[in-house]
Amino acid sequence: MKKSCDVLIIGSGIIGCCLALELSKMNYQTLNVDFQPTAGAGSTANSCGNVRFYYSTYNGVATAYESAWYWHNWKKYIGMTDPRGTAEYHNTGSVFIKNQVLDWPKVKINFDKVGVRYEEWDLARLQRKIPVCDFHSFYPPKRPEDPDFNQAPGGWLEGACYTPESGYVGDPQLATQNVECAAKAQGAEFIYDARVIEIRRDDERVRGVTLDDGAQIDASIVVNVAGPHSFKITEMAGLSSANEIKTRALRHEVHVVPPPEGYLPEEKGYHTNDADIGAYYRPEAGNRILTGSVDPVCDPKEWVDPDNFNREVSEDQWKAQVYRLARRIPDLPIPNRPSGIVDLYDVSDDWIPIYDKSDLKGYYQVIGTSGNQFKTAPVVGAMMAELIRQVENGYDHDARPLQYKLPHMGLTIDTGAFHRNRKINRDSSFSVVG
Ligand SMILES: Cc1cc2nc3c(=O)[nH]c(=O)nc-3n(C[C@H](O)[C@H](O)[C@H](O)COP(=O)(O)OP(=O)(O)OC[C@H]3O[C@@H](n4cnc5c(N)ncnc54)[C@H](O)[C@@H]3O)c2cc1C
Repeated sequence: MKKSCDVLIIGSGIIGCCLALELSKMNYQTLNVDFQPTAGAGSTANSCGNVRFYYSTYNGVATAYESAWYWHNWKKYIGMTDPRGTAEYHNTGSVFIKNQVLDWPKVKINFDKVGVRYEEWDLARLQRKIPVCDFHSFYPPKRPEDPDFNQAPGGWLEGACYTPESGYVGDPQLATQNVECAAKAQGAEFIYDARVIEIRRDDERVRGVTLDDGAQIDASIVVNVAGPHSFKITEMAGLSSANEIKTRALRHEVHVVPPPEGYLPEEKGYHTNDADIGAYYRPEAGNRILTGSVDPVCDPKEWVDPDNFNREVSEDQWKAQVYRLARRIPDLPIPNRPSGIVDLYDVSDDWIPIYDKSDLKGYYQVIGTSGNQFKTAPVVGAMMAELIRQVENGYDHDARPLQYKLPHMGLTIDTGAFHRNRKINRDSSFSVVG
């Protein structure tokens, strides 16, 4: 067992692996520890892998749009051939239905500032592009037990915004393994089936971790990238009350249904965000449709213990999501049996991540990804590696938050937006949209 490293990264999900790759390129000796048996087997494995650019803040849009370079140039980013295969990016484009929930004029301002490529589609064009849908408004989203669920729809929707560079990664775990492979080629090391149970520290700084088999690994830099377990690691570091912004684990269900007869989502479908029915949907392997909720107020929120939660799809939530989708797609066949997956979001108080140092010297946090940071992982890996390098070299990030230049777009973002002690960001959607 390895006894020391420069940087110990807790977690080998997509973000932990991207961070390992970038730090290794900077010649840090990194070691990721994960209790799963392989890379990307935590919440990343069940991510929908959607790559879309509409977020409610400038930084959200900028980091998401920067990520497009990586997904369009995945092989170049990985820089080698992974014997397990290479993750495929499905460049379907993304349709963002204009509706009462998401403030399109505000998103448009940020799209224009960042330079996102988009087209505005009027209702007629939307109908031509996706003829299987009924684009009446069904707002507000309801649950099937609501007596108004089947009431006549409201007027027609206005149209949509289409971003041609968006899409999805169908196998997020394979994408993570690709990054792990690239990181290993740079000298990064990984330990699996091992759980961090203690963060060792003294008055001055973090000193390393203890694993569940009793092994101690010394490291003067430790990074919490533990996904939905992030709050447990924060507790271990003794920092629960130090961070203004907290994180917790939210259970989330994603469902899969067959398409209407004759409709082939993998050929004709788009990734779609449709808050009018409280849903997102996209093509899924086998010409099926995958759908998840965008957290409408009518849906209960299940905050859970990440080590003890129900992994079975629930009849109730399946019905709610699939029946709502069936209002938008009237010919949707409704199977007798629910099918889908259950996993956890690591949600922050304002649904915006914490990408930051901490009050404990040498201890960093890449947490609170709130169900929407798969796409940005390569951007976040590079940004956090730079933040760690600068802070370790004496930069006072708390006094003057790092201004980070996104390498592909050349835009600069204020990383203070991801600070652990920021004020709750009232511009946030307070949902998975970010
Ligand atoms: C159902 C679902 C759908 C999503 N859809 C999208 C989407 O369409 N687009 C998008 O951009 N984002 C999406 N997301 C969000 C995205 O998947 C996450 O933001 C991202 O995967 C988080 O990566 P991570 O590396 O931080 O966390 P994880 O993948 O959860 O990795 C954390 C790792 O830490 C390990 N760990 C935890 N505690 C310990 C410990 N004590 N010791 C050792 N190891 C530990 C865990 O085993 C885990 O492997 C979705 C998330 C979910 C759950």
